[in-house]
Amino acid sequence: MAYNKKNKGVVRCIDKMGRVVIPKEIRKDLGMDIGSPVEITVFGNQVQIRKYVEYCIICGKPQAGAEMLKIHDKKICDKCSGLIGKYTVTGELPPVDEDEEDE
Ligand SMILES: [Zn+2]
Repeated sequence: MAYNKKNKGVVRCIDKMGRVVIPKEIRKDLGMDIGSPVEITVFGNQVQIRKYVEYCIICGKPQAGAEMLKIHDKKICDKCSGLIGKYTVTGELPPVDEDEEDE
């Protein structure tokens, strides 16, 4: 079956090294380049391969390609690390900002 945006079903064979090629059109559509990390998950008898995106453990926002602060194998975004630094120094509690928009 040919790849198209409506039906992304494509049949590919696993090579002798256990590799599967993700079609160029799909990689292009998803912004996946050579060296892009992918996440492989198994659900029963299905294998899902998706573009790997890291999330800040504090705010939960995706951080595609952004530098993150790593503390004990946990990563936090620039914004959260800035807030932690600010409120650690001052001893204040951060304001509750419920109307904050996703960036
Ligand atoms: Zn964050």
